[in-house]
Amino acid sequence: MITRKTRDQIALMRRAGTVVAEMHELCIRAAKPGATTADVDRAAREVIERRGARSNFLGYGSPPFPGVVCTSPNEVIVHGIPADDVVLEEGDILSIDCGAIIEGWHADAAVTIPVGEVDEESKRLIEVTRRSLEAAIENVVEGRRLGDVGAAVEQVAEGGGFSIVREYVGHGIGTAMHEEPQVPNYGPPNRGLKLKEGLVLAIEPMVNAGGAETEVLADGWTVVTRDRRRSAHFEHTIAVTANGPEVLTLPW
Ligand code: MG
Ligand code: MG
Repeated sequence: MITRKTRDQIALMRRAGTVVAEMHELCIRAAKPGATTADVDRAAREVIERRGARSNFLGYGSPPFPGVVCTSPNEVIVHGIPADDVVLEEGDILSIDCGAIIEGWHADAAVTIPVGEVDEESKRLIEVTRRSLEAAIENVVEGRRLGDVGAAVEQVAEGGGFSIVREYVGHGIGTAMHEEPQVPNYGPPNRGLKLKEGLVLAIEPMVNAGGAETEVLADGWTVVTRDRRRSAHFEHTIAVTANGPEVLTLPW
């Protein structure tokens, strides 16, 4: 079932979104060379507690996810588990995926950052992935279709010479983190669900430097590129409004 949210509900999702934005701010500050991904998770936990939010990541799924953020370095595409023995090094890239719940309403967003100075290909991978999300957001407009959103990601990411992960997709979001519809990062334009006011989507391109193929590690969570080349991931929670796309996971 696809639900549309009222203005008041979207306002609550924006409050959850500001918590997510602050989590990102502190996580990015924590993700320095020599820090561990557990340090990044602790920075996010502090924000959740201080803001009186709940985590939608902690305990999610099976086996229950143990962090409040997913920390996915280098060849890890998504769902990396924060750990004391994963030490960030100069030259790494790191996807930080954060979520929060306020009064039952969810927000979800991800960013990929360079750890210190990174190589040119990593810089371009991050930049192209960020731009692919921006292009998708421009299509979160009444009357456009889900296929237009996916096609926008595809055009930017593949135009940059990279490949798009197909096994994992974006999603509707509201009183649950993952609601219908699924939001693929590819697709023919002018096809699929027509976007209407009140629809709220988490759009999250996952873009690989090498091939598109993925693999899940033995921990049951960590998704890596099969060729072990690097991957970047950006995500925002966005509402379709009468005034166009409204990004709910920005820091205001
Ligand atoms: Mg996410
Ligand atoms: Mg998501």
